[in-house]
Amino acid sequence: MTQEILGIAASSGIAIAKAFRLENPELKVEKKTVTDIDSEIARLEKALATSTSELEKIKEHALKELGQDKAEIFSAHLLVLSDPELINPIKEKIQTENVNAEVALDEVASMFISMFESMDNEYMKERAADIRDVTKRVLAHLLGVNISNPSMISEEVVIIAEDLTPSDTAQLNRQYVKGFTTDIGGRTSHSAIMARSMEIPAVVGTKTVMHDIENGALVIIDGLDGKVLVNPSEEVVKQYEDKAAAYEAQKAEWAKLVNEKTVSADNHHVELAANIGTPEDVKGVLENGGEAVGLYRTEFLYMGREDLPTEEEQFTSYKTVLERMEGKPVVVRTLDIGGDKELPYLNLPKEMNPFLGFRAIRLCLEMQDMFRTQLRALLRASVYGNLKVMFPMIATLDEFRQAKAILLEEKEKLQAEGVSVSDNIEVGMMVEIPSSAVMADLFAKEVDFFSIGTNDLIQYTLAADRMNERVSYLYQPYNPAILRLIHMVILAAHKEGKWVGMCGEMAGDEIAIPILLALGLDEFSMSATSILKARSQIRQLSKAEIEPHIETILSMSSTEEVIEFVKSTFNLA
Ligand code: PEP
Ligand code: MG
Repeated sequence: MTQEILGIAASSGIAIAKAFRLENPELKVEKKTVTDIDSEIARLEKALATSTSELEKIKEHALKELGQDKAEIFSAHLLVLSDPELINPIKEKIQTENVNAEVALDEVASMFISMFESMDNEYMKERAADIRDVTKRVLAHLLGVNISNPSMISEEVVIIAEDLTPSDTAQLNRQYVKGFTTDIGGRTSHSAIMARSMEIPAVVGTKTVMHDIENGALVIIDGLDGKVLVNPSEEVVKQYEDKAAAYEAQKAEWAKLVNEKTVSADNHHVELAANIGTPEDVKGVLENGGEAVGLYRTEFLYMGREDLPTEEEQFTSYKTVLERMEGKPVVVRTLDIGGDKELPYLNLPKEMNPFLGFRAIRLCLEMQDMFRTQLRALLRASVYGNLKVMFPMIATLDEFRQAKAILLEEKEKLQAEGVSVSDNIEVGMMVEIPSSAVMADLFAKEVDFFSIGTNDLIQYTLAADRMNERVSYLYQPYNPAILRLIHMVILAAHKEGKWVGMCGEMAGDEIAIPILLALGLDEFSMSATSILKARSQIRQLSKAEIEPHIETILSMSSTEEVIEFVKSTFNLA
């Protein structure tokens, strides 16, 4: 019988394929005394040989499917496997201490890992990570436990996982990975955001898929309604094939609007922009009729690598985006690391509350070399298009002033060196911390624009972690508290003649759009794949007709009331 599991719809579309479980098994090592030393060493050698041939295959596959960069990781792992400095002490331990291969491997590897980790040297720290990865594979073979190799997938599957990190997501091969579903995570966790930009249907925060779904089971991921169906009957499969076809037809309808302006039925123009993570994403922005880039999350440039990107590398990426956008606005956000976006090579201590911790602008104002390098790259790129710079996670006026002063200092330095820099760079900030929304009237005098980051603004206002599915019921975009804050920000900005965008996921949400339009939001920035649907919706709405309802909506007492009202008043299903 078809089993239905509910979750959070994280990326639209329907996927029907076999389940591929991403396992992260616990490897329990028990100490045993061995008498037959030779056969214990033979057992170790067999596990090493199996791991080697497995890694060779993975490397070859990665080279073909994911490119040289990703394949290098596996070359490093192969080197570890053949390193006598690691392997010989393991054999010696078996011979001299009569312990089983698992214990010898575990103890020797742990010794090297802690030695390398304690060194103040990036390269050695990376080697520690390689040894940890490789040991896990060999240990799994010794224990007869399966570990999964997602980069080896070569047939159509849907991924079932407890969680996916942004770098796991980046390594998924779109040709074979048709969808994914996870136990944890929310709609605005970064793997969900990446799934949308990669157009992979996804349902997250199900709590139980790892428990309920076996490898190879037929699974339907319904990223439109947030459902996962396991072992569906033929009838259910047919029903979902029809739903997928209807969705494709709907997309074809929306596609007709690709070259149209975004104007409401009463002729009010707003700008529909896209959120991107890499220069490659610009293609999707233009294909989906994006009028601007409203948020370039530059942190992805810093992720999935072993050290900081150089000024030159960054300059090339920023220049590419600006050129590809051909003079359309590009809002680049400076480094927003922290929260669920980690940079292991910065070696920052673990924090109790990473979303409230040392992140984004806080980190940049302290690690100024890194910040200044990024600003220089941006300033140099500014002459290739229409650049706007914004700072993330601004909580106080002082932070904005400091960040802007550093930007101006770097601009002057570059000009003194004879480097040309555009004179029309707007400098703005994200409004994603309640303090900055409340103080928007003062900020508005100093910024050129605001971009409201509802993904964080919601989690901070309702104190509900955006990654935690247990409190996802409190993660309420339409809560009147959020709507009032947005209203305050727009009023304050317009009073000073400044424009306001929104780059949180709420900007592309069909229930939020009528309200945001009537509140006077100037720019809506969303996943590129949401743009045409939003354009189609806005063209049917009249701003003037919604405006008289705003007071009623802002004085409602709950999120449910808002949803109910919007659905019934503005004809939403
Ligand atoms: C936000 O917080 O709304 C935002 C756009 O930034 P991010 O999702 O990268 O935190
Ligand atoms: Mg944010």
